Amino acid sequence: MDQEKVIVIDFGGQYNQLVARRVRECNVYCEIYSYRTALDQIKAMNPKGIILTGGPNSCYEENSPTYQKELFELGIPVLGLCYGAQLMTHVLGGRVEKAPVREYGKIEVTVDQTSPLFMDVQQKTICWMSHNDYIAQTAPGFSITAHTADCPVAAAENKERKLYAIQFHPEVLHTQEGTKMLYHFVRDVCGCSGTWRMDSFVENSIAEIREKVGNGKVLCALSGGVDSSVAAVMLAKAIGSQLTCVFVDHGLLRKNEGDEVEEVFGPNGPYRLNFIRINAQERFYRKLAGVTEPEKKRKIIGEEFIRVFEEEAKKIGAVDFLVQGTIYPDVVESGLGGESAVIKSHHNVGGLPDCVDFKEIIEPLRNLFKDEVRKAGLELGIPEKLVFRQPFPGPGLGIRIIGEVTAEKVRIVQDADAIYREEVDRAAETYAKEHGEPAPWKPDQYFAALTNMRSVGVMGDERTYDYAVALRAVNTIDFMTAESAEIPSEVLQKVMSRIINEVRGVNRVFYDLTSKPPGTIEFE
Ligand code: GLN
Repeated sequence: MDQEKVIVIDFGGQYNQLVARRVRECNVYCEIYSYRTALDQIKAMNPKGIILTGGPNSCYEENSPTYQKELFELGIPVLGLCYGAQLMTHVLGGRVEKAPVREYGKIEVTVDQTSPLFMDVQQKTICWMSHNDYIAQTAPGFSITAHTADCPVAAAENKERKLYAIQFHPEVLHTQEGTKMLYHFVRDVCGCSGTWRMDSFVENSIAEIREKVGNGKVLCALSGGVDSSVAAVMLAKAIGSQLTCVFVDHGLLRKNEGDEVEEVFGPNGPYRLNFIRINAQERFYRKLAGVTEPEKKRKIIGEEFIRVFEEEAKKIGAVDFLVQGTIYPDVVESGLGGESAVIKSHHNVGGLPDCVDFKEIIEPLRNLFKDEVRKAGLELGIPEKLVFRQPFPGPGLGIRIIGEVTAEKVRIVQDADAIYREEVDRAAETYAKEHGEPAPWKPDQYFAALTNMRSVGVMGDERTYDYAVALRAVNTIDFMTAESAEIPSEVLQKVMSRIINEVRGVNRVFYDLTSKPPGTIEFE
Protein backbone atom coordinates (compact mmCIF):
# COMPACT_ATOMS: atom_id res chain seq x y z
CA MET A 1 0.00 0.00 0.00
CA ASP A 2 1.36 3.39 -0.92
CA GLN A 3 1.00 5.30 2.32
CA GLU A 4 1.52 9.04 2.07
CA LYS A 5 4.39 9.87 4.43
CA VAL A 6 6.65 12.48 5.94
CA ILE A 7 10.20 11.61 6.92
CA VAL A 8 11.95 12.87 10.02
CA ILE A 9 15.72 13.01 9.65
CA ASP A 10 17.25 12.66 13.06
CA PHE A 11 20.30 14.64 14.13
CA GLY A 12 20.35 13.25 17.64
CA GLY A 13 17.67 15.51 19.08
CA GLN A 14 15.93 14.71 22.33
CA TYR A 15 12.51 15.08 20.80
CA ASN A 16 12.83 13.02 17.63
CA GLN A 17 10.01 10.68 18.57
CA LEU A 18 7.86 13.57 19.64
CA VAL A 19 8.19 15.17 16.20
CA ALA A 20 6.99 11.98 14.54
CA ARG A 21 4.13 11.59 17.00
CA ARG A 22 2.90 15.12 16.41
CA VAL A 23 2.96 14.60 12.67
CA ARG A 24 0.93 11.44 13.07
CA GLU A 25 -1.55 13.36 15.19
CA CYS A 26 -2.16 15.34 11.99
CA ASN A 27 -3.15 11.98 10.43
CA VAL A 28 0.02 11.84 8.38
CA TYR A 29 2.22 8.77 8.57
CA CYS A 30 5.76 9.54 9.60
CA GLU A 31 9.01 7.60 10.10
CA ILE A 32 12.35 8.52 11.66
CA TYR A 33 15.68 7.96 9.92
CA SER A 34 19.25 8.78 10.86
CA TYR A 35 21.02 11.66 9.09
CA ARG A 36 23.35 8.94 7.82
CA THR A 37 20.60 7.62 5.56
CA ALA A 38 21.61 8.05 1.91
CA LEU A 39 19.79 10.58 -0.23
CA ASP A 40 18.80 7.90 -2.75
CA GLN A 41 17.16 5.91 -0.02
CA ILE A 42 15.23 8.97 1.14
CA LYS A 43 14.14 9.70 -2.42
CA ALA A 44 13.04 6.11 -2.93
CA MET A 45 10.62 6.46 -0.03
CA ASN A 46 8.89 9.19 -1.96
CA PRO A 47 8.15 11.42 1.04
CA LYS A 48 5.68 14.29 0.80
CA GLY A 49 7.82 16.27 3.24
CA ILE A 50 11.01 16.12 5.27
CA ILE A 51 11.64 17.38 8.81
CA LEU A 52 15.12 17.84 10.23
CA THR A 53 15.29 17.49 14.03
CA GLY A 54 17.30 19.31 16.66
CA GLY A 55 20.59 18.00 17.92
CA PRO A 56 23.35 18.61 20.46
CA ASN A 57 26.10 19.71 18.04
CA SER A 58 27.05 23.01 16.47
CA CYS A 59 26.61 22.78 12.72
CA TYR A 60 29.62 25.00 11.93
CA GLU A 61 32.04 22.68 13.70
CA GLU A 62 33.98 20.08 11.84
CA ASN A 63 32.54 16.53 12.00
CA SER A 64 29.13 17.72 13.12
CA PRO A 65 26.25 15.79 11.60
CA THR A 66 25.29 17.28 8.27
CA TYR A 67 23.40 16.52 5.08
CA GLN A 68 24.22 17.15 1.47
CA LYS A 69 22.83 20.24 -0.22
CA GLU A 70 20.87 18.18 -2.76
CA LEU A 71 18.38 17.31 -0.06
CA PHE A 72 17.07 20.85 -0.38
CA GLU A 73 16.88 20.64 -4.17
CA LEU A 74 14.46 17.73 -4.51
CA GLY A 75 11.45 20.02 -4.65
CA ILE A 76 10.18 18.25 -1.51
CA PRO A 77 9.27 20.66 1.31
CA VAL A 78 11.79 20.66 4.17
CA LEU A 79 11.24 21.94 7.69
CA GLY A 80 14.31 22.37 9.90
CA LEU A 81 13.81 22.50 13.68
CA CYS A 82 16.51 24.05 15.86
CA TYR A 83 19.71 22.21 14.83
CA GLY A 84 17.85 21.34 11.63
CA ALA A 85 17.11 25.01 11.02
CA GLN A 86 20.69 25.98 11.70
CA LEU A 87 22.01 23.24 9.45
CA MET A 88 19.71 24.22 6.60
CA THR A 89 20.96 27.78 6.92
CA HIS A 90 24.60 26.70 7.10
CA VAL A 91 24.42 24.34 4.12
CA LEU A 92 22.55 26.86 1.97
CA GLY A 93 25.03 29.68 2.55
CA GLY A 94 23.77 31.56 5.61
CA ARG A 95 25.70 32.04 8.85
CA VAL A 96 25.29 30.26 12.18
CA GLU A 97 27.27 31.33 15.25
CA LYS A 98 27.39 31.01 18.98
CA ALA A 99 24.53 33.21 20.21
CA PRO A 100 25.43 36.20 22.42
CA VAL A 101 22.44 35.24 24.58
CA ARG A 102 21.36 31.64 24.75
CA GLU A 103 17.69 30.94 25.23
CA TYR A 104 16.23 28.15 27.26
CA GLY A 105 12.62 27.57 28.23
CA LYS A 106 9.38 29.31 27.37
CA ILE A 107 10.02 32.48 25.37
CA GLU A 108 7.69 34.94 23.69
CA VAL A 109 8.09 34.86 19.93
CA THR A 110 6.73 37.44 17.50
CA VAL A 111 5.65 35.81 14.26
CA ASP A 112 4.85 37.07 10.78
CA GLN A 113 1.30 35.93 10.13
CA THR A 114 1.79 35.96 6.36
CA SER A 115 3.96 32.85 6.69
CA PRO A 116 2.01 29.70 5.73
CA LEU A 117 3.15 28.14 9.00
CA PHE A 118 1.92 30.97 11.19
CA MET A 119 -1.21 32.17 9.42
CA ASP A 120 -3.58 31.63 12.33
CA VAL A 121 -0.99 31.80 15.09
CA GLN A 122 -1.16 34.73 17.53
CA GLN A 123 1.30 37.43 16.63
CA LYS A 124 2.96 37.02 20.02
CA THR A 125 3.07 33.39 21.02
CA ILE A 126 4.89 31.35 23.65
CA CYS A 127 7.42 28.88 22.28
CA TRP A 128 9.92 26.43 23.77
CA MET A 129 13.53 27.33 23.08
CA SER A 130 16.71 25.38 23.80
CA HIS A 131 19.76 26.67 21.97
CA ASN A 132 23.29 28.03 22.32
CA ASP A 133 23.81 28.84 18.65
CA TYR A 134 21.71 31.06 16.45
CA ILE A 135 21.19 32.05 12.86
CA ALA A 136 23.24 35.24 12.49
CA GLN A 137 22.38 35.60 8.84
CA THR A 138 19.75 33.77 6.83
CA ALA A 139 20.67 31.88 3.67
CA PRO A 140 20.16 33.73 0.37
CA GLY A 141 16.52 33.71 -0.72
CA PHE A 142 15.21 33.34 2.83
CA SER A 143 13.19 35.92 4.71
CA ILE A 144 12.79 36.19 8.45
CA THR A 145 9.34 35.21 9.72
CA ALA A 146 9.78 35.28 13.50
CA HIS A 147 12.02 36.79 16.17
CA THR A 148 12.35 37.09 19.94
CA ALA A 149 13.93 39.77 22.12
CA ASP A 150 17.28 37.98 21.94
CA CYS A 151 17.00 35.97 18.75
CA PRO A 152 16.69 37.93 15.51
CA VAL A 153 15.91 34.81 13.45
CA ALA A 154 13.47 32.60 15.35
CA ALA A 155 12.08 31.43 11.99
CA ALA A 156 12.91 31.96 8.33
CA GLU A 157 11.60 30.65 5.06
CA ASN A 158 12.05 30.42 1.34
CA LYS A 159 8.46 30.08 0.24
CA GLU A 160 9.18 29.39 -3.42
CA ARG A 161 11.46 26.48 -2.62
CA LYS A 162 9.26 25.35 0.29
CA LEU A 163 12.10 25.47 2.79
CA TYR A 164 11.28 26.42 6.39
CA ALA A 165 13.56 26.95 9.36
CA ILE A 166 12.31 27.23 12.95
CA GLN A 167 14.70 27.89 15.84
CA PHE A 168 12.26 26.80 18.55
CA HIS A 169 10.59 23.42 19.10
CA PRO A 170 6.99 23.27 17.84
CA GLU A 171 6.83 19.57 18.76
CA VAL A 172 7.11 20.29 22.50
CA LEU A 173 3.79 20.99 24.23
CA HIS A 174 5.23 24.10 25.91
CA THR A 175 5.12 25.68 22.46
CA GLN A 176 1.51 26.71 22.77
CA GLU A 177 0.64 26.79 19.09
CA GLY A 178 3.24 24.28 17.91
CA THR A 179 0.81 21.61 16.76
CA LYS A 180 -0.86 24.17 14.52
CA MET A 181 2.48 25.04 12.92
CA LEU A 182 3.31 21.40 12.24
CA TYR A 183 -0.19 20.85 10.91
CA HIS A 184 0.28 23.73 8.48
CA PHE A 185 3.56 22.27 7.33
CA VAL A 186 2.40 18.73 6.69
CA ARG A 187 -1.13 19.43 5.51
CA ASP A 188 -0.80 22.79 3.73
CA VAL A 189 2.82 23.08 2.59
CA CYS A 190 3.42 19.37 1.91
CA GLY A 191 -0.17 18.86 0.76
CA CYS A 192 -0.74 15.66 2.70
CA SER A 193 -4.39 14.70 2.73
CA GLY A 194 -4.30 13.06 6.17
CA THR A 195 -5.23 9.44 5.48
CA TRP A 196 -3.33 7.88 8.40
CA ARG A 197 -6.10 6.54 10.61
CA MET A 198 -6.20 3.66 13.01
CA ASP A 199 -9.37 2.14 11.59
CA SER A 200 -7.82 1.76 8.15
CA PHE A 201 -4.54 0.63 9.70
CA VAL A 202 -6.30 -2.16 11.54
CA GLU A 203 -8.23 -3.23 8.46
CA ASN A 204 -5.17 -3.24 6.22
CA SER A 205 -3.04 -5.07 8.77
CA ILE A 206 -5.60 -7.82 9.16
CA ALA A 207 -5.70 -8.31 5.41
CA GLU A 208 -1.90 -8.34 5.19
CA ILE A 209 -1.57 -10.85 8.02
CA ARG A 210 -4.11 -13.16 6.39
CA GLU A 211 -2.21 -13.13 3.17
CA LYS A 212 1.15 -13.65 4.80
CA VAL A 213 0.13 -16.47 7.12
CA GLY A 214 -1.98 -18.48 4.70
CA ASN A 215 -2.63 -21.81 6.42
CA GLY A 216 0.37 -21.45 8.72
CA LYS A 217 0.55 -21.95 12.47
CA VAL A 218 1.23 -18.93 14.66
CA LEU A 219 2.43 -18.70 18.25
CA CYS A 220 2.10 -15.68 20.52
CA ALA A 221 3.52 -15.10 24.01
CA LEU A 222 0.88 -13.14 25.83
CA SER A 223 1.79 -11.10 28.88
CA GLY A 224 -1.52 -9.37 29.34
CA GLY A 225 0.16 -6.03 28.71
CA VAL A 226 -1.30 -3.61 26.18
CA ASP A 227 1.08 -4.34 23.30
CA SER A 228 0.95 -8.12 23.28
CA SER A 229 -2.82 -8.04 23.86
CA VAL A 230 -3.43 -5.78 20.88
CA ALA A 231 -1.11 -7.86 18.70
CA ALA A 232 -2.85 -11.06 19.76
CA VAL A 233 -6.34 -9.75 19.06
CA MET A 234 -5.27 -8.47 15.68
CA LEU A 235 -3.91 -11.91 14.82
CA ALA A 236 -7.01 -13.54 16.23
CA LYS A 237 -9.25 -11.46 13.98
CA ALA A 238 -7.09 -12.31 11.01
CA ILE A 239 -6.52 -16.04 11.45
CA GLY A 240 -8.63 -17.27 14.39
CA SER A 241 -7.83 -20.82 15.41
CA GLN A 242 -4.50 -20.93 13.59
CA LEU A 243 -3.20 -18.84 16.50
CA THR A 244 -2.06 -20.26 19.81
CA CYS A 245 -1.47 -17.87 22.70
CA VAL A 246 0.67 -18.92 25.59
CA PHE A 247 0.16 -16.95 28.77
CA VAL A 248 2.60 -17.56 31.59
CA ASP A 249 1.23 -16.55 34.97
CA HIS A 250 4.37 -16.11 37.02
CA GLY A 251 2.49 -15.29 40.18
CA LEU A 252 3.75 -11.72 40.12
CA LEU A 253 0.77 -10.16 38.38
CA ARG A 254 -1.58 -7.59 39.82
CA LYS A 255 -4.61 -8.83 41.71
CA ASN A 256 -6.98 -10.84 39.47
CA GLU A 257 -4.91 -9.97 36.40
CA GLY A 258 -4.39 -13.57 35.33
CA ASP A 259 -8.13 -14.20 35.37
CA GLU A 260 -8.82 -10.97 33.52
CA VAL A 261 -6.45 -11.98 30.75
CA GLU A 262 -8.06 -15.40 30.58
CA GLU A 263 -11.53 -13.88 30.42
CA VAL A 264 -10.59 -12.00 27.28
CA PHE A 265 -8.36 -14.53 25.56
CA GLY A 266 -9.46 -17.81 27.07
CA PRO A 267 -11.90 -20.40 25.74
CA ASN A 268 -14.93 -18.48 27.01
CA GLY A 269 -13.71 -15.17 25.62
CA PRO A 270 -14.85 -13.62 22.37
CA TYR A 271 -11.93 -14.67 20.16
CA ARG A 272 -11.91 -18.48 20.07
CA LEU A 273 -8.16 -18.78 20.13
CA ASN A 274 -6.15 -21.67 21.37
CA PHE A 275 -5.22 -20.29 24.74
CA ILE A 276 -2.80 -21.95 27.09
CA ARG A 277 -2.47 -20.55 30.58
CA ILE A 278 0.41 -21.86 32.57
CA ASN A 279 0.13 -21.37 36.27
CA ALA A 280 3.78 -21.27 37.16
CA GLN A 281 3.48 -19.36 40.44
CA GLU A 282 5.02 -22.03 42.66
CA ARG A 283 7.87 -22.53 40.29
CA PHE A 284 8.75 -18.84 40.29
CA TYR A 285 8.44 -18.50 44.06
CA ARG A 286 10.75 -21.48 44.51
CA LYS A 287 13.38 -19.92 42.24
CA LEU A 288 13.09 -16.59 44.03
CA ALA A 289 13.30 -17.98 47.55
CA GLY A 290 16.06 -16.29 49.51
CA VAL A 291 17.03 -13.93 46.68
CA THR A 292 17.13 -10.25 47.63
CA GLU A 293 19.37 -8.57 45.04
CA PRO A 294 17.19 -6.64 42.52
CA GLU A 295 19.17 -7.44 39.38
CA LYS A 296 19.36 -11.08 40.31
CA LYS A 297 15.61 -11.17 40.85
CA ARG A 298 15.02 -9.62 37.45
CA LYS A 299 17.32 -12.15 35.78
CA ILE A 300 15.73 -15.12 37.47
CA ILE A 301 12.24 -14.01 36.50
CA GLY A 302 13.26 -13.32 32.89
CA GLU A 303 15.05 -16.64 32.49
CA GLU A 304 12.39 -18.70 34.13
CA PHE A 305 9.83 -17.07 31.88
CA ILE A 306 11.70 -18.24 28.84
CA ARG A 307 12.13 -21.76 30.26
CA VAL A 308 8.40 -22.11 30.87
CA PHE A 309 7.55 -20.73 27.48
CA GLU A 310 10.09 -22.99 25.83
CA GLU A 311 8.67 -26.12 27.41
CA GLU A 312 5.22 -25.19 26.22
CA ALA A 313 6.40 -24.32 22.73
CA LYS A 314 8.07 -27.74 22.46
CA LYS A 315 4.75 -29.41 23.12
CA ILE A 316 3.16 -27.39 20.35
CA GLY A 317 5.97 -28.27 17.98
CA ALA A 318 7.22 -26.31 15.01
CA VAL A 319 5.28 -23.18 14.14
CA ASP A 320 5.51 -21.01 11.08
CA PHE A 321 5.33 -17.61 12.74
CA LEU A 322 6.03 -16.07 16.11
CA VAL A 323 4.15 -12.90 17.09
CA GLN A 324 5.86 -10.11 18.99
CA GLY A 325 4.36 -6.94 20.39
CA THR A 326 7.27 -4.73 19.35
CA ILE A 327 6.24 -1.08 18.94
CA TYR A 328 7.87 1.85 17.16
CA PRO A 329 9.70 3.34 20.15
CA ASP A 330 11.35 -0.09 20.64
CA VAL A 331 12.54 0.06 17.06
CA VAL A 332 13.86 3.61 17.36
CA GLU A 333 15.46 3.04 20.76
CA SER A 334 17.26 -0.07 19.66
CA GLY A 335 19.03 2.10 17.11
CA LEU A 336 17.26 0.79 14.02
CA GLY A 337 15.39 3.97 13.28
CA GLY A 338 16.83 7.25 14.37
CA GLU A 339 20.09 8.61 15.63
CA SER A 340 19.60 8.75 19.38
CA ALA A 341 22.04 6.64 21.36
CA VAL A 342 21.05 3.02 21.86
CA ILE A 343 19.03 3.24 25.05
CA LYS A 344 18.23 -0.45 25.31
CA SER A 345 18.44 -3.25 22.84
CA HIS A 346 14.96 -4.52 22.53
CA HIS A 347 14.13 -8.12 23.14
CA ASN A 348 10.49 -8.62 23.62
CA VAL A 349 10.08 -11.02 26.52
CA GLY A 350 13.81 -11.60 26.77
CA GLY A 351 15.14 -13.11 23.57
CA LEU A 352 12.31 -15.53 22.97
CA PRO A 353 13.01 -16.26 19.31
CA ASP A 354 16.13 -18.33 20.08
CA CYS A 355 14.23 -20.99 21.88
CA VAL A 356 11.35 -21.59 19.53
CA ASP A 357 11.37 -23.34 16.22
CA PHE A 358 9.73 -20.92 13.79
CA LYS A 359 10.28 -19.48 10.35
CA GLU A 360 9.39 -15.84 10.65
CA ILE A 361 8.42 -13.13 13.13
CA ILE A 362 5.25 -11.11 12.80
CA GLU A 363 5.29 -7.69 14.47
CA PRO A 364 2.01 -6.06 13.55
CA LEU A 365 2.55 -3.00 15.78
CA ARG A 366 6.10 -2.30 14.74
CA ASN A 367 5.25 1.07 13.25
CA LEU A 368 2.95 2.36 15.98
CA PHE A 369 3.45 4.66 18.92
CA LYS A 370 1.88 3.68 22.23
CA ASP A 371 -1.10 6.00 21.88
CA GLU A 372 -1.72 4.55 18.42
CA VAL A 373 -1.51 1.01 19.79
CA ARG A 374 -4.23 1.98 22.26
CA LYS A 375 -6.38 3.43 19.48
CA ALA A 376 -5.90 0.26 17.45
CA GLY A 377 -6.89 -1.74 20.54
CA LEU A 378 -10.14 0.20 20.83
CA GLU A 379 -10.79 -0.28 17.11
CA LEU A 380 -10.37 -4.00 17.66
CA GLY A 381 -12.96 -3.92 20.42
CA ILE A 382 -10.62 -4.75 23.28
CA PRO A 383 -12.12 -3.67 26.64
CA GLU A 384 -11.01 -0.20 27.74
CA LYS A 385 -9.84 -1.61 31.02
CA LEU A 386 -7.21 -3.62 29.16
CA VAL A 387 -6.34 -0.94 26.63
CA PHE A 388 -5.69 1.78 29.20
CA ARG A 389 -3.82 -0.43 31.63
CA GLN A 390 -1.04 1.29 33.50
CA PRO A 391 2.45 0.28 32.46
CA PHE A 392 3.57 -2.84 34.28
CA PRO A 393 7.12 -4.16 34.29
CA GLY A 394 7.89 -7.65 32.94
CA PRO A 395 9.21 -8.88 36.32
CA GLY A 396 5.92 -7.66 37.76
CA LEU A 397 5.43 -7.42 41.49
CA GLY A 398 8.79 -9.13 41.87
CA ILE A 399 10.41 -5.70 41.74
CA ARG A 400 7.69 -3.99 43.77
CA ILE A 401 8.48 -6.20 46.72
CA ILE A 402 11.73 -5.03 48.21
CA GLY A 403 13.89 -7.91 49.31
CA GLU A 404 12.86 -11.54 49.18
CA VAL A 405 9.69 -12.45 47.29
CA THR A 406 7.28 -14.85 48.95
CA ALA A 407 3.71 -15.88 48.20
CA GLU A 408 2.63 -14.11 51.39
CA LYS A 409 4.27 -10.83 50.36
CA VAL A 410 2.75 -11.09 46.89
CA ARG A 411 -0.68 -11.39 48.47
CA ILE A 412 -0.06 -8.32 50.63
CA VAL A 413 1.10 -6.10 47.81
CA GLN A 414 -1.63 -7.33 45.45
CA ASP A 415 -4.36 -6.51 47.94
CA ALA A 416 -2.90 -3.16 48.96
CA ASP A 417 -2.36 -2.18 45.33
CA ALA A 418 -5.91 -3.13 44.35
CA ILE A 419 -7.34 -0.98 47.16
CA TYR A 420 -5.13 1.95 46.22
CA ARG A 421 -6.04 1.87 42.54
CA GLU A 422 -9.71 1.36 43.30
CA GLU A 423 -9.87 4.37 45.63
CA VAL A 424 -7.92 6.68 43.34
CA ASP A 425 -10.08 5.68 40.38
CA ARG A 426 -13.25 6.12 42.34
CA ALA A 427 -12.27 9.57 43.65
CA ALA A 428 -11.20 10.66 40.17
CA GLU A 429 -14.48 9.48 38.68
CA THR A 430 -16.48 11.31 41.32
CA TYR A 431 -14.49 14.45 40.65
CA ALA A 432 -15.09 14.17 36.91
CA LYS A 433 -18.83 13.73 37.42
CA GLU A 434 -19.07 16.72 39.72
CA HIS A 435 -16.85 19.08 37.73
CA GLY A 436 -17.47 17.94 34.19
CA GLU A 437 -13.73 17.56 33.58
CA PRO A 438 -11.08 15.00 34.50
CA ALA A 439 -9.55 15.32 37.97
CA PRO A 440 -6.43 17.47 37.52
CA TRP A 441 -4.64 15.55 40.25
CA LYS A 442 -5.12 12.10 38.75
CA PRO A 443 -1.60 10.66 38.44
CA ASP A 444 -0.32 9.07 35.25
CA GLN A 445 0.80 6.01 37.16
CA TYR A 446 0.06 4.84 40.68
CA PHE A 447 0.69 1.59 42.47
CA ALA A 448 1.57 0.14 45.84
CA ALA A 449 4.85 -1.52 46.73
CA LEU A 450 5.93 -3.49 49.75
CA THR A 451 8.88 -2.22 51.73
CA ASN A 452 11.01 -4.74 53.50
CA MET A 453 10.47 -2.94 56.77
CA ARG A 454 8.41 -4.07 59.71
CA SER A 455 7.53 -1.83 62.58
CA VAL A 456 5.59 -1.86 65.79
CA GLY A 457 1.99 -0.76 65.89
CA VAL A 458 -1.06 -1.25 68.00
CA MET A 459 -4.40 -2.63 66.81
CA GLY A 460 -7.28 -3.56 69.08
CA ASP A 461 -5.10 -2.85 72.09
CA GLU A 462 -2.65 -5.43 70.88
CA ARG A 463 0.89 -4.99 69.78
CA THR A 464 1.53 -5.62 66.06
CA TYR A 465 4.80 -6.05 64.26
CA ASP A 466 3.97 -5.81 60.58
CA TYR A 467 5.02 -4.56 57.15
CA ALA A 468 4.91 -1.03 55.76
CA VAL A 469 3.30 -0.48 52.35
CA ALA A 470 4.59 2.34 50.14
CA LEU A 471 2.24 4.23 47.84
CA ARG A 472 3.77 5.57 44.64
CA ALA A 473 2.09 8.09 42.35
CA VAL A 474 3.84 9.92 39.54
CA ASN A 475 3.14 12.28 36.73
CA THR A 476 5.17 11.83 33.60
CA ILE A 477 4.82 12.50 29.94
CA ASP A 478 7.25 9.96 28.61
CA PHE A 479 8.24 7.84 31.63
CA MET A 480 11.84 9.03 31.22
CA THR A 481 11.42 11.64 33.95
CA ALA A 482 8.69 11.86 36.54
CA GLU A 483 7.45 13.90 39.45
CA SER A 484 5.63 12.62 42.47
CA ALA A 485 1.93 13.41 42.12
CA GLU A 486 -0.25 15.14 44.70
CA ILE A 487 -3.27 13.03 45.48
CA PRO A 488 -5.76 14.84 47.76
CA SER A 489 -5.10 13.92 51.34
CA GLU A 490 -8.62 12.69 52.07
CA VAL A 491 -8.18 10.10 49.31
CA LEU A 492 -4.87 9.00 50.77
CA GLN A 493 -6.37 8.81 54.25
CA LYS A 494 -9.05 6.49 52.98
CA VAL A 495 -6.52 4.32 51.15
CA MET A 496 -4.39 4.11 54.29
CA SER A 497 -7.24 3.13 56.53
CA ARG A 498 -8.61 0.54 54.12
CA ILE A 499 -5.20 -1.05 53.59
CA ILE A 500 -4.52 -1.33 57.29
CA ASN A 501 -8.00 -2.64 58.02
CA GLU A 502 -8.32 -5.04 55.12
CA VAL A 503 -4.83 -6.31 54.39
CA ARG A 504 -3.48 -8.64 57.04
CA GLY A 505 0.18 -8.11 57.77
CA VAL A 506 0.30 -4.34 57.19
CA ASN A 507 0.30 -1.75 59.98
CA ARG A 508 1.85 1.29 58.30
CA VAL A 509 1.46 3.16 54.98
CA PHE A 510 4.04 5.53 53.47
CA TYR A 511 3.70 7.94 50.56
CA ASP A 512 6.72 8.24 48.28
CA LEU A 513 7.62 11.84 47.35
CA THR A 514 10.70 11.07 45.25
CA SER A 515 10.94 12.29 41.67
CA LYS A 516 12.83 10.63 38.81
CA PRO A 517 15.72 11.34 38.73
CA PRO A 518 17.07 10.78 41.38
CA GLY A 519 14.59 7.98 42.05
CA THR A 520 13.08 5.60 39.52
CA ILE A 521 9.38 4.96 39.08
CA GLU A 522 9.71 1.35 40.15
CA PHE A 523 11.45 0.37 43.37
CA GLU A 524 13.99 -2.13 42.15
N1 GLN B 1 23.12 22.50 19.42
C1 GLN B 1 22.40 23.56 18.80
C2 GLN B 1 22.34 24.80 19.69
O1 GLN B 1 22.77 24.77 20.80
C3 GLN B 1 20.98 23.09 18.51
C4 GLN B 1 20.19 22.84 19.76
C5 GLN B 1 18.92 22.09 19.49
O2 GLN B 1 18.71 21.53 18.42
N2 GLN B 1 18.07 22.02 20.49
O3 GLN B 1 21.90 25.84 19.25
